[in-house]
Amino acid sequence: NPALQPGGVNGHLIGVPGGPAQLRTPALVLDADLFETNLADMARRAADAGIALRPHAKTHKCAKIAKRQVGLGALGLCCAKLGEAEALADEGLSGLLITSPLVTPDSFARLIALSRKAPDTRCVCDNPQVALAMAEAAAAAGTTLEVLVDLDVGLQRSGARTVADAVELARVIAGHPSLRLGGIQGYAGHAMHIAGARARTAELEQVSGKVAALRDALSALDLPPAIITGGGTGSVDIDAALGIFTELQVGSYVFMDREYDDVWTSQGEAPPFAAALTLWTTVTSANQSGHCTLDAGCKALATEAGMPRVLDGAPRGARYEFFGDEQGKLVYADAGLAPCRPGDVVRLQPPHCDPTVNLHDWIHVVRGDRIVDIWPLVARGRMQ
Ligand code: PLP
Ligand code: MN
Repeated sequence: NPALQPGGVNGHLIGVPGGPAQLRTPALVLDADLFETNLADMARRAADAGIALRPHAKTHKCAKIAKRQVGLGALGLCCAKLGEAEALADEGLSGLLITSPLVTPDSFARLIALSRKAPDTRCVCDNPQVALAMAEAAAAAGTTLEVLVDLDVGLQRSGARTVADAVELARVIAGHPSLRLGGIQGYAGHAMHIAGARARTAELEQVSGKVAALRDALSALDLPPAIITGGGTGSVDIDAALGIFTELQVGSYVFMDREYDDVWTSQGEAPPFAAALTLWTTVTSANQSGHCTLDAGCKALATEAGMPRVLDGAPRGARYEFFGDEQGKLVYADAGLAPCRPGDVVRLQPPHCDPTVNLHDWIHVVRGDRIVDIWPLVARGRMQ
């Protein structure tokens, strides 16, 4: 984004059509004040509950944000994939937990290299044979790896299916000299977007009961879990009361998105965090009577969670519709209102923050109507 290098436009007005520092769109924009409020609120919630934070980098893919989270007390970062962790380690981050199972010899070799570079690296495992293969790779490399038992708590995406299976796996890990048992992961991704505090709490009580059963079984075997990790943005108001986790792997709270806002607003409740992330788009064609065309399609905006919310810059009630990979359709609700013109900037709230951020190289940090920084999304696209 050469027209918008940090320093080049810092402090300049943005969003002035034709102005010297107009953002090139589609552009991902972060409200600096709302972002800081979200980070501080989460840090305070965790401190009040006596729970540590290892926020998930899958959401932001950004070393600058990761360092800010660590600066506010986070133990490190969770990463979905090795590539994400490698990108953060290159920027000097440590305390990395890979939350998806690693199963191939190549990934074991990369994990070993990563753990030599970034102190305090951990992974998860859900299968005893895989644990043994990982142990052999570590032994051959003359090193040890710290492994958490991944417990399926209802999502059915990964994790030992039963507490008994998880205990068996923990014994394999603890019994091998080149592995260390780090604790338990019980991520309840299936529960995060359940609308209504009562229904969400009921599901998370089941989750915490299963995790507690594993904790107690391991303690009885003299293998007490040092780390019990789980949680997400949808459970921030519940995890403290459940009292099971030693650390949380919250991600979306940094930005929020339309899908998460809906969890609370659909119930007439206020979301616990502020919508700090917007996508700025430009009207590129406006010759039709009922709609106009925006420069952001599904290459700029992940839409697997529905459509973005139209925030401003458009006639009241206008909504976004799919219009291909490069364009979006802005459909007017009321023919009587003044339509958009070419060059107008229309701001959208992404439906789902993580996959939208992953489509962009940069995030533009604004305070009021000024760009204050531009951060590279160093781990974006690193899905391997
Ligand atoms: N942990 C894991 C394993 C995840 O897959 C995710 C997100 O999908 C998170 C944590 C972060 O959750 P959230 O974005 O709901 O805070
Ligand atoms: Mn998500």
